[in-house]
Amino acid sequence: MSKISSDSQETALVTGASRGIGRAIAIVLAASGRFVYLNYHSNHAKAQQTLDQIKEQGGDGALLPFDVTDKQASETAIGKIIAEKGKIEILVNNAGIREDMLMVWMKEENWQRVLDTNLTGFFNVTRLVVKKMLPKRYGRIINISSTSGQVGQAGQVNYSASKAGLIGATMALAKEIAKRNITVNAVAPGFIETEMVEGLPLDQIAQSIPAGRLGLPEEVADAVLFLCSRKAAYITGQVLGINGGIC
Ligand code: NDP
Repeated sequence: MSKISSDSQETALVTGASRGIGRAIAIVLAASGRFVYLNYHSNHAKAQQTLDQIKEQGGDGALLPFDVTDKQASETAIGKIIAEKGKIEILVNNAGIREDMLMVWMKEENWQRVLDTNLTGFFNVTRLVVKKMLPKRYGRIINISSTSGQVGQAGQVNYSASKAGLIGATMALAKEIAKRNITVNAVAPGFIETEMVEGLPLDQIAQSIPAGRLGLPEEVADAVLFLCSRKAAYITGQVLGINGGIC
């Protein structure tokens, strides 16, 4: 890959980039020439593997562990990006967890942890990043929602609520900042082969998907890559399903 001067090189932050979908997104963004900050919670070994792979492919990036539920930690992390790069053009809000159970069995902490990570995490990070994008009059924000947030999934009242909330936030924020050339979109993956779906009856699930299989993290990443590009300038406030036809 030819080296890009640091002024013209876009800066990206991908939350939850140590593994799964976030890892695949970080890899394609770096391969397309962006400097990518890889956020994660605690899995340092997996995050380092992602960064090593990026560097082996001629890309560049840095590890940026912090808990997206922690307002102060988020502020420190975004401050570090701005201190080092002076700008941030791309934010992918991907960090997420699930704690599935029927609502009758759900404890308040199961509700709160999922909402805190999947929805308040978006708020903690995006609020700060948008402030840095506005004066530059450019930005791309992609939120990783889910089919579960579009149609609801039994056993996922907390998760579906968090992912539906993310869709509402995407549409509202898009309207607030469209005039500054900052686009905000969501992608809604169906079942994607990552650690998150381990333990689910995958053969049975595959049969219920029109495409007959689960999706790959790379298939989500390529769609995100396009939404992060200059060519996607007129797409904002949208939700793109990546689900093999399941809804
Ligand atoms: P994984 O469980 O494989 O990875 C989750 C990532 O999120 C990890 O990098 C993890 O970091 C990070 N993370 C979790 N909590 C926090 C936190 N508090 N602060 C910072 N980082 C955190 O998940 P997937 O790759 O499968 O999912 C990625 C996103 O896509 C999620 O938002 C998920 O809801 C969504 N999604 C996934 C689908 C699927 O079928 N896999 C379908 C639809 C949506 P660490 O490694 O340090 O724990």
